[in-house]
Parts: sequence; C-alpha cells; structure tokens
Amino acid sequence: MAEALYSTSKQLCCPICLESLNSPKSLPCIHTFCEKCICKYASDYSKKALQSDTILCPVCRSPIPALANDENPKDWAAKLPTNIVVLSLSASDRTENNFLCTASPL
Ligand SMILES: [Zn+2]
Ligand SMILES: [Zn+2]
Repeated sequence: MAEALYSTSKQLCCPICLESLNSPKSLPCIHTFCEKCICKYASDYSKKALQSDTILCPVCRSPIPALANDENPKDWAAKLPTNIVVLSLSASDRTENNFLCTASPL
C-alpha cells in the first residue's frame, strides 16, 4: 500500500541525483531521469563496457540501446523522448514537487 505512494513521489524525482527532474528524459522502460544524469550515466557505462550495445536502466536493469562508438553522450541523451507528463507536473506544481523531493543529500 505504501508502495504506490512511494513510487508516485519517486516519479517526480530523478533516481540518480534524487532531485526534481530537470529536462526529464524517458527510457523505453518508462523510468525517467534528468537529461544530464542519464547522459553522465550512459557515458560512464560505455567507458566501462566498451563492447556493449546496450546499457542497463539504473533502476530496473532493463536493457536500453547504448550510444554508438563515436556518439556524443549529450546527443544520445537529447534523442531520448522527453517525459511530457513529468514536465507539465513539475511546471504546474512547483511547491508540491519540491515537497516530494526533500530527500536531499546530507
Ligand atoms: Zn538527476
Ligand atoms: Zn527502468
């Protein structure tokens, strides 16, 4: 029961930086991250696993298409679909969004 509430508030926060989503980008598994967070993640991931043509979602480990060998991570992240729902939520409800995202680092 508490789980539903948890996942709702999580949706408005980036699972990587735990802050309000900034340029929300969706993966095929519908998890959403800041454009700059998923960009950094993909770039780190491709450095570690050079031969891999997929990277794993940081949340559910679903495979998602990785960037091509010489592809700029920024271009790769920019091509991900923008999560319009999160975008409109955070634009229309700043106060609640901030309230939900109080899990800031120490
Ligand atoms: Zn983030
Ligand atoms: Zn996922």
